[in-house]
Amino acid sequence: MSMRYVSTRGTAPALDFEGALLAGLARDGGLYVPQTWPELTPSGLKALAGLGYADLAQRVTAPFVAGSRFTAAELGELASDAYRDFGHVAVAPLKQLDRNLWLLELFHGPTLAFKDLPLQLVGRMFDRALTRRGERVTIVGATSGDTGSAAIEACRDRAAIDIFILYPHNRVSDVQRRQMTSVDAPNVHTIAIEGSFDDCQDLVKAMFNDMAFRDRHRLSAVNSINWARIMAQIVYYVATAVSLGAPRRPVSFSVPTGNFGNVYAAYAAHLMGLPIDQLIVATNRNDILARFFDAAELRIETVEPSLSPSMDIQVSSNFERLIFDLYDRDGAAVTAAMAEFRRTGRLAVGNARWQRARERFTGFRLDDEGTKDCIREVYRKTGELVDPHSAISIAAALRCRRDHQVPMVALGAAHPAKFPDAVEAATGVRPALPRHLADLLDRPERINVLPNDLRRVQAFVSDRVAIKGAA
Ligand SMILES: *Cc1c(COP(=O)(O)O)cnc(C)c1O
Repeated sequence: MSMRYVSTRGTAPALDFEGALLAGLARDGGLYVPQTWPELTPSGLKALAGLGYADLAQRVTAPFVAGSRFTAAELGELASDAYRDFGHVAVAPLKQLDRNLWLLELFHGPTLAFKDLPLQLVGRMFDRALTRRGERVTIVGATSGDTGSAAIEACRDRAAIDIFILYPHNRVSDVQRRQMTSVDAPNVHTIAIEGSFDDCQDLVKAMFNDMAFRDRHRLSAVNSINWARIMAQIVYYVATAVSLGAPRRPVSFSVPTGNFGNVYAAYAAHLMGLPIDQLIVATNRNDILARFFDAAELRIETVEPSLSPSMDIQVSSNFERLIFDLYDRDGAAVTAAMAEFRRTGRLAVGNARWQRARERFTGFRLDDEGTKDCIREVYRKTGELVDPHSAISIAAALRCRRDHQVPMVALGAAHPAKFPDAVEAATGVRPALPRHLADLLDRPERINVLPNDLRRVQAFVSDRVAIKGAA
């Protein structure tokens, strides 16, 4: 059976997996989602028990690439290459924190955040697809801290790719910035925007909506709007649920949320048949999503900096994929809803849709004080150091779980050494960087600051690509 991808706005043509991978955002401004969900049956889930991470990734992702030029064997080869150098042989190990409470450690990849799990695979898929076609692309992405370095590590030194990453100037941590600006590769370009993450994201969207620019540079994206990234994230939800007893037992997850990509992947796994009881959308003070699940309305406010900068977001791009589902896959209705949200900063989805969302999702918010308290408590009770993002998911898991008989898994989204100041302030212990990054703070940086101005950013991109082309 072959798999096609449709846009959430309903007018862009349906594509196969390779097309959706290379396109990123759909041409009608929507996001690609599978036309139908492959099924995870009870017997299919049982067959996954005991597999290594790469093998499991191959089995779970194979139906999503069916009918494209990727073969199942090739997927297996790319997956084992992608996960070979992780700092933990289990790739995504589970650590028990308390009775029926677990931490899923997703920070053993090269840049110490969960985004390495999707992007190490997606970078290789990009390179493979482009090389096969004899094409090059320019990847542009916005990052609130972690996507950027994960995308850069996934794309560096790949011949078919130039990558431009926009991040909010002075609003990412030292470690996060240096992981981007110290990469010495000719195809890697970073831009510090004088603005917020949402400004960066708007600039990226505006570049995609400028069709002439988009076609001239063959723009593409690997951030969480890219379907392939969501696909690769479904894998660890399946792996975790299976190791905790699925299909026999359901599992719940608490997900520290910014762009809604990670928790949407959990929801997708649920739509495929994975027995998930509860999904907690854990946010910091930038709590637009938590407020949505409380009050049936998305209402935008200004972005405030916090101890968990990767979640300092108001407009969560992937939320549109949930909206698409809540509006029964009606692209015209999604287009109208998103236009209203753009225009007024508000979106009410109606009581029935909201109730449906609430069957699975619970919202949660925690401020910086609460985050530090949680880091301290976890350290006191378990001896584990956890980063602020992971702490928010743990606090949410403790406070919002509906059923104590169901295993609850809090996502460990970043390594504590990525946010050493917050961890030290809470516990008195400064977490050490793992060996491969021990000299990070001594590596030279290259920083390019630009105003929040589309023309200036486009000129920068054109210049850099042109210099490369001429060389
Ligand atoms: C990216 C990121 C998040 C937010 O994930 P989304 O998929 O954007 O919701 C949370 N925590 C950390 C550490 C991250 O890197």
